[in-house]
Amino acid sequence: MKIENVEFHYLANDTILDIGDGSQDALLVHVRMDDGSEGWGECEAAPLVSIAAWCCPMSHLACKPLKATVIGFEINGPADIYALTDRVRRNSFDLLQADHTLSGIDIALWDMLGKKRGEPVWNLLGYANAYPKTAYASQLFGDTPQQTYEKAVQSREAGFRAAKFGWGPFGLGSPETDIDHVRAAREGLGPDLALMIDAGTVWVHDVARAAAVLPALREAKAVWLEEPFTSGALKAYAALAQQDGCARLLAAGEGSHDPDMAFNLMDFGKLGFIQIDTGRIGGISSAKKVAEYAEKTGVVYVNHTFTTSLALSASIQPFAGLKDSPWCEFPVESAPPSRLLTKERLLPDANGQIRLPDAPGLGVDINPDTIARYGRQVSIQYENQMLWSSK
Ligand SMILES: [Mg+2]
Repeated sequence: MKIENVEFHYLANDTILDIGDGSQDALLVHVRMDDGSEGWGECEAAPLVSIAAWCCPMSHLACKPLKATVIGFEINGPADIYALTDRVRRNSFDLLQADHTLSGIDIALWDMLGKKRGEPVWNLLGYANAYPKTAYASQLFGDTPQQTYEKAVQSREAGFRAAKFGWGPFGLGSPETDIDHVRAAREGLGPDLALMIDAGTVWVHDVARAAAVLPALREAKAVWLEEPFTSGALKAYAALAQQDGCARLLAAGEGSHDPDMAFNLMDFGKLGFIQIDTGRIGGISSAKKVAEYAEKTGVVYVNHTFTTSLALSASIQPFAGLKDSPWCEFPVESAPPSRLLTKERLLPDANGQIRLPDAPGLGVDINPDTIARYGRQVSIQYENQMLWSSK
């Protein structure tokens, strides 16, 4: 069967705030094959730029829009979806948004193939089991340590067994303020819940500044320190990893746009945890390659996601069968377009664990009312030619 049509839906909250919350808008991808089979996916990152990467005029041989490669591509099994990734990367080598746009298409193709064959995606990927993952309540730091404390108390009372705090004011002021936030988080969670800290790349390359919070992380028994530096700062990651007690403490990878970026972070950045967003790295196909490499090299794989149940399901599928990768990011502060996107939400059970559905494909259904409410009209025009327009 061939890919006949790819439709994009741009959903956005009525107001987009200047905060570290990627759930305020979403780019949904709906793929339809020539035999009527369908699937849904989601891209992370700037939605409108991702649509432009689909439809922009060819610039040269290695800078083609994705539609030039995707429409008409034959998909009859998993190997064909992997092959599409290679073809898109060759044809859109100079189009930097290509991996983001590809991500949603790739996810939708896995969903489509699973539904067509009546199998969950994790099964198609070769896993016999989908192990439950312990959900960590992923949220922003409060503006003050007191607010961070209150958010931590809420996470504990909501039944989570783990929580992550990130971004917000962390790292922007003095190390002492950061330490107060870490202590407040631990105090609010109590002694038994797992605590993760996400610095949101705030220290760029500054190893000494990152090292200043290490004693507090040790005292608070943090499971990991996430993204102290920018994604490509491999030397800084390696230098911090050499400090006392840091051998397996560092986590990063959500910024990876292809598997090589993730491999480099693991090999040369000396990570203990690799975090992959299937909506950025090129989709489930690329994420699965990272999961295989992580398992081989003893690095713990963690999903990255901050948006919808569709993205959450897609982000867990690539490491569903890895028993030794037990954590799962779970967004607790999603804005309405993301929170309401699917008819059923993937939620933690009474033990604070997320279980992937056994249903075919990604196991979630899109809510058309949410598309109607938050869908935005988009047109992209070049001279007199309409390159793309939302239906
Ligand atoms: Mg992060």
